[in-house]
Amino acid sequence: MSQDCLFCKIVNGDIPSDKVFEDDKVIAFKDINPQAPVHTLIIPRQHIATTNDLTIENSDLLGHMILTAEHIAAKNNLTEPGYRLVMNCNEQGGQTVYHIHLHILGGRQLRGLG
Ligand code: 5GP
Ligand code: ZN
Repeated sequence: MSQDCLFCKIVNGDIPSDKVFEDDKVIAFKDINPQAPVHTLIIPRQHIATTNDLTIENSDLLGHMILTAEHIAAKNNLTEPGYRLVMNCNEQGGQTVYHIHLHILGGRQLRGLG
């Protein structure tokens, strides 16, 4: 837990969120500024600032985040049409919240990156 971290506050319930899934390792909630009809964020309960801070110890957690994304995509009927999973890192990667999160975007045609 990091004192000033927005997503740690969401994990703790200090800041409300529109939660769509949670278990002992992750929580998933709707993005406050959605870029697609489905725009959900999956975050670990554990505070990890960026993907640069990941180690081999986090391999299971990352796999679990992706499988959770697949589950949420299926619940939103995105399995066949498709969807996008994104993790941004640091400034040039477009990261604005420094607690890792996996974006799930879907429900419309997505085009190039960048
Ligand atoms: P990043 O730019 O770091 O990859 O993504 C951060 C995401 O968090 C953005 O898409 C932004 O809209 C979302 N976000 C920022 N603050 C909040 C918040 O308080 N609640 C929710 N649900 N999403 C947030
Ligand atoms: Zn945090």
